Amino acid sequence: MLRFKAVEEAFKKKPLKVEAPSRLTSDYYGKYVFNESAMSKYLSKDTLKSLKNAIEKGVQLSRNVADEIAAGMKMWAMELGATHYTHWFQPLTGGTAEKHDSFIEYEGAPGGNIIEEFTGKLLIQAESDASSFPNGGIRSTFEARGYTAWDPSSPAFVLGNTLCIPTIFISYSGESLDYKAPLLKSIAALNKAATDVCNYFDNKVKHVFTYLGWEQEYFLIDEGLFATRPDLLLTGRTLMGHESAKNQQLEDHYFGAIPSRVAAYMEDLEYEGYKFGIPLKTCHNEVAPNQFEIAPIYSEANLAVDQNLLLMSIMKKVARRHGFRVLLHEKPFQGINGSGKHCNWSIGTDTGVGLFTPGKNTKENLQFITFIINALMAVYKHNGLLKASISSATNAHRLGAHEAPPAIISAFLGSQISAILDKIENNNGEEIVMGDKNALKLGIGHLPEVMIDNTDRNRTSPFAFTGNRFEFRATGSSANCSPCLIALNTAMADQLTQFKKEVDAKIAKGKAKDKAIFEVLKSYIKICRPIHFDGNGYSEEWKKEAAKRGLDCETSVPKIFNNYLKKESIEMFTRMGVLNERELLARNEVKWEMYTKKIQIESRVLGDLAMNHIIPVATKYQGTLIDNVYKLSQALPDKAAMLSKENIDLIEQIAAHINTIKVKVEAMTAARKKANIIENEEEKANAYHDNVLPYFSQIREAIDHLELIVDNEMWTLPKYRELLFIR
Ligand code: ADP
Ligand code: MG
Repeated sequence: MLRFKAVEEAFKKKPLKVEAPSRLTSDYYGKYVFNESAMSKYLSKDTLKSLKNAIEKGVQLSRNVADEIAAGMKMWAMELGATHYTHWFQPLTGGTAEKHDSFIEYEGAPGGNIIEEFTGKLLIQAESDASSFPNGGIRSTFEARGYTAWDPSSPAFVLGNTLCIPTIFISYSGESLDYKAPLLKSIAALNKAATDVCNYFDNKVKHVFTYLGWEQEYFLIDEGLFATRPDLLLTGRTLMGHESAKNQQLEDHYFGAIPSRVAAYMEDLEYEGYKFGIPLKTCHNEVAPNQFEIAPIYSEANLAVDQNLLLMSIMKKVARRHGFRVLLHEKPFQGINGSGKHCNWSIGTDTGVGLFTPGKNTKENLQFITFIINALMAVYKHNGLLKASISSATNAHRLGAHEAPPAIISAFLGSQISAILDKIENNNGEEIVMGDKNALKLGIGHLPEVMIDNTDRNRTSPFAFTGNRFEFRATGSSANCSPCLIALNTAMADQLTQFKKEVDAKIAKGKAKDKAIFEVLKSYIKICRPIHFDGNGYSEEWKKEAAKRGLDCETSVPKIFNNYLKKESIEMFTRMGVLNERELLARNEVKWEMYTKKIQIESRVLGDLAMNHIIPVATKYQGTLIDNVYKLSQALPDKAAMLSKENIDLIEQIAAHINTIKVKVEAMTAARKKANIIENEEEKANAYHDNVLPYFSQIREAIDHLELIVDNEMWTLPKYRELLFIR
């Protein structure tokens, strides 16, 4: 049987020998990236200067300069073995997409000599027939073409034989069809709004950057075992499988040594990541068996997102070299922890000040408190939207379960910051003068530096302040980080803009600046109190409490998506110039469509496995039991009734489970058929959620019971213990 063969093979596999590309990491770090050092080698000084202006200040590149950059980039890429180029973009389906073109062109008339060519025009913009990418109908009503356009703020890289150029993807009429375009817009909006507010405190600040440090969780499964599980192969998760007797209850995996085959994989992955300039910092075991994490040092958000997407594809490639498959799904296995991608989010000035980092004096700390409170306000006002930004068919299995943030967004602050907010809120306006003495009384004159390590590690909060950043923990492991950053950045930008308006109004009426700021902050602390929760987010009491506080408690993913179309959301995205109503409508269509497709595929795979794997095996085993009962009645007629009792009981149990499976699969199929004829994407997604999805757990329960009864030798699908403990 394939299952046992796969187990046997997996046991025989030895760790691959991995060698460092060089003794010093700096020798090969960023080798495949067209970074500053490569640019300075392949571009003239003037060209480099224009490019830097484009990157830092958004100055348009002239055609000549673009041609020169393209020529330099091509030469650099060809020396690394590249023969093709592609515009690398981030469609709404998730992951990345690319269309490869080779460098070759006819030198003169068609049919003549071939030369390698790559012009500024090809670098900057390409037409992509992307009608096959979901776009929520925007494209069909307009020109059937989209454009990809170069994003010079994220460096090009060579992957295999291809020069990859990070690009945005927009429709002919200018609407965003991807994640990168709105991300860049949200970063720009936040830069503007935050710089304005910073200038209350320091007029030297000219720019505010958005930073992201992601932590990527994943599972590694032996490739042979993976191949024998059609559910893993087609859906990325197991749709059935009884819990292993041992899983994570001993907590031995988290603290344990990294298994040797995995250690080799991680080492290899780190080297590969370094070649692409990804500053990987930590690799370690996670809570569940065969679950691991990899994280880089944080960087500017746009770059960090691209690096995460690139690393996800490198992870898959390297895994196959080591005989593994990477599972990026949020919940590959029931009953043990799922995988997230914590997004550590912060903003900082061009003068080097982290705006979520406690400062050294009163002025810096008033600034710090200002940004913290505005962040809370943003998250409070748009908590439903933030939840929508991380919601998906796959992440739904993780959220609200006992090991992951609940399907409610709240913010954790820790005791120190909470105490400061209380003091400000309870202070009677009059005594607020920004002298150091009063500031001290409020607790903001001097914040101890140790705070960074001291913030309680409340693991149950979806949005936690961790000393110098907020950690958005609800993001799923397979997701692009962009949607949650787009929502966060835009909400924050909008909030800061509102804040400035209110403070300016008070100043115009003759209030001193510091006092005006204090008054507005004080009013905010009261307003956003409901979002602040430092308690146990996994508890049942919190769910009740959150509902009382008016936080969004919806758990149905298709309904959660409606948050994007709420009046407040549309107005906010429009005001900040990040997405307009048409784009939001179109993008929601895609979200609903993707949701439907995921559940549809799972439902088909589940039905197929149930009918074609599970029932035949169970029936076969039932047959051997019946045989045995019959033979007993022939051989020992007197004792047969007594001796056959247990087997008859088993025969009946199996019959009952088979019946349940059959009935439920038929009902599920009928529900699917009914849903499929619905044309409206929103209604269809709701039908899949409400009428198809509920059968999954019912069918699974019967299958998992059978797994416990049926002869192990007959069971064709590798069991959880094999998938999770062999490596
Ligand atoms: P954890 O205890 O949450 O696992 P780690 O140190 O492993 O913490 O990971 C934290 C992540 O947060 C890293 O990617 C790190 O670079 C990032 N990070 C640290 N400081 C900041 C910051 N100010 N802004 C954004 N990300 C940050
Ligand atoms: Mg973390």
